[in-house]
Amino acid sequence: MTQFQNGVQDTLAQWQLALGQLRTENRLRQLRTLDSTQRPHAVLNGQPVVDFCSNDYLGLATHPALKQAAIEATHHYGSGTGGSRLIGGTCPLHLELETQLATFKGTPAARIFNSGYQANIGLLSALISRNDVILSDKLNHASLVDGAQLTRAKVIRYPHLNLETLETQLQQIPNGTRRWILTDSIFSMDGDLAPLKALYDLAEQYDAWLIIDEAHGTGVFGEAPASGLWKTTGLGHQDRVIQMGTFSKALGSFGAYVAGAQTVIDQLTQLARSFIYSTSLPPGVIAANLAALTLVSEDATPTHTLWQNIQTFQDCAKRTRLPLAPIQSPIIPIILGDCDQALQVSQALLEAGFYVQAIRPPTVPQGTARLRITLSAAHEPMDIERLVDSLRKHIAR
Ligand SMILES: *Cc1c(COP(=O)(O)O)cnc(C)c1O
Repeated sequence: MTQFQNGVQDTLAQWQLALGQLRTENRLRQLRTLDSTQRPHAVLNGQPVVDFCSNDYLGLATHPALKQAAIEATHHYGSGTGGSRLIGGTCPLHLELETQLATFKGTPAARIFNSGYQANIGLLSALISRNDVILSDKLNHASLVDGAQLTRAKVIRYPHLNLETLETQLQQIPNGTRRWILTDSIFSMDGDLAPLKALYDLAEQYDAWLIIDEAHGTGVFGEAPASGLWKTTGLGHQDRVIQMGTFSKALGSFGAYVAGAQTVIDQLTQLARSFIYSTSLPPGVIAANLAALTLVSEDATPTHTLWQNIQTFQDCAKRTRLPLAPIQSPIIPIILGDCDQALQVSQALLEAGFYVQAIRPPTVPQGTARLRITLSAAHEPMDIERLVDSLRKHIAR
């Protein structure tokens, strides 16, 4: 057998070195089993915990209505669709969900994608051409970053939430060039909010598109229904605004959507490769998504309970000296800086019965390793009080 330099054996050895390095630096990502039949209570690697790192903000992932809907649809239609949406994989539930979703979002049309990641890479690569310019917040989700790369357009990343820089960048784009502003509505690792109204005003002034990732906003922000942070601007549907979001976080199920102008959705159906070349979501998942939308549309209680829990955390935290930025959403980062400390505190919390994940670079910028706490409507105020007590004990200031 011939061995080349940088052949298979060399490469395996290089990877083993790199993995060893990550392990030494406490940055190796590892899988842990979370066993839960009734969130937020779970067993993590054998240890009973209250889960404070799930994105199941409304506690719907184990809700009887969603489970029942999934079971019934699976009984009726079977476990898989056997095809992509355009080739035999559209069952009546898919279209019903898209219609309901457009109503929920207040947009002319909507399309389902198989996950948020696939929605973003499909959406961006379908609509944006290589001669366009993309302006993207530096802390946007990896799926927006990857989708932007696929377009081969020029990508300019503006400093997090810095609209002055964004405006300067917009001014420099020559007339005749399409421009796209990309932003998370709620930033997934910091929990802070994009100023959507101000971003929209800039988009309008410079005739740009505005693509908003509502993965963490859907079901959490806005009222009647809680369709996302965009709802709180009161601007309603605007042709230049394209919203995407997921069913996998507050809505307790799986999959994603893009909502916007009919022409935008039509264009996606023709061009979005992650939509066209992937088997559609199974009927059980779609039925659970429908049940979640119905629930959130008809009953604001879970969303209100979530916000009460956020208030409870805030009240408890006030009496501590935890290093907290202003709390704006159910995502609460405690930035410790150092990977080792983040891991140690996370481990100590685990021993006290709380699952709070340490988030380390490269998921977050160097030197900003953190604990990322997420709250849910399923938490009891007592769980939150006990968590804050434990945090106070383990984070020396
Ligand atoms: C989770 C997330 C996604 C990806 O959604 P999935 O359905 O999990 O693939 C996209 N964008 C943001 C901001 C997210 O937090």
